[in-house]
Amino acid sequence: MAPQVELQRVTEPADEADILREQLDYLIDHAARGAECGCAACHRYLRVRAILLEIFQEPQATKVREIPTALARAA
Ligand SMILES: [Zn+2]
Repeated sequence: MAPQVELQRVTEPADEADILREQLDYLIDHAARGAECGCAACHRYLRVRAILLEIFQEPQATKVREIPTALARAA
């Protein structure tokens, strides 16, 4: 019966959280080996890193850098 097949898929051993951790480990490991080589894994690492770290960043982080320059111009 078809419903049983779907249930089997849901209860597959590799649960999504494990896959996410595994992928993150892989990407961190890749980036730690050095040197952003610019491959697809590097790009994925940078994207996931930006997302995971975004709560630690001020929303206007880029604008804050511009303030000293603006003040210097005004002075
Ligand atoms: Zn790479």
